[in-house]
Amino acid sequence: MANKSIQQFIIIGAFLSLPFASMAWGTLGHRIVGEVASHHLSPKTKLAVKNILGDESMALASNWADFVKSDTSFKYLNSWHYIDFDDTTLTATSMASKLKTDTATDVYVKLNFIIAQLKNKSLSKEKQLMYLRLLIHIVGDIHQPLHTGHAEDKGGNSIKVSWFNQPTNLHAVWDDKMIDNQQLSYTEYTAAIDHATPNQQKTWQGQPLTTWIFQSYQLANSVYAEIKQPDQKLSYRYSYDHIASLNEQLLKGGIRLAGLLNEIFG
Ligand SMILES: [Zn+2]
Repeated sequence: MANKSIQQFIIIGAFLSLPFASMAWGTLGHRIVGEVASHHLSPKTKLAVKNILGDESMALASNWADFVKSDTSFKYLNSWHYIDFDDTTLTATSMASKLKTDTATDVYVKLNFIIAQLKNKSLSKEKQLMYLRLLIHIVGDIHQPLHTGHAEDKGGNSIKVSWFNQPTNLHAVWDDKMIDNQQLSYTEYTAAIDHATPNQQKTWQGQPLTTWIFQSYQLANSVYAEIKQPDQKLSYRYSYDHIASLNEQLLKGGIRLAGLLNEIFG
């Protein structure tokens, strides 16, 4: 009996940990991006967003696209969250020209599609809500480096690592393990990182979507290169080495999302 209940416990545990393994930035990461963005909207954009989301904050709206993964009628959205690159030698220029002819159902093509939809003044209320929630989420995803990773390892999902002696995968370390380790709420986290200079904000918002993807891809290349063996042990030192670039990605995501919304609704 005892054995059986331990087995059941292990099986339930395995199921509980499954959905989170493949999510983009964890719940917290997406909320931070949404919360940062909400602090950088023009008054006109703030009103337009409020008209669409109602009482739902941008931080909470950011998680909708992951939550609907459990609903099979939204299965078609799954590939909207990422883009794969199997060539690790792309330059900014070669990536931009590759993306120019991209027709896949990926984060680049779909983000452009969503932006065009939200600019359409005659879009239905229901579609406005769906596309705004998707936009808030997907801009975050682009800034998680392993969302611009390799198809062969599912963006690091199949690269097994050990995090403080617990088995997990590289994607999950970047989605939420390092963020959770900070032990901050999304509002506390936002307050801690939301300090981009006016110059940084201008630079980040002025860069095209191809640059956002290229920067994420460059970071992904270095994240991959540091994994040298199966089940590599990661803990304090890994977090110490990477938390600054992770935080910068969250901040860039929020600042760029605000810039995009100001452009769409301004
Ligand atoms: Zn996602």
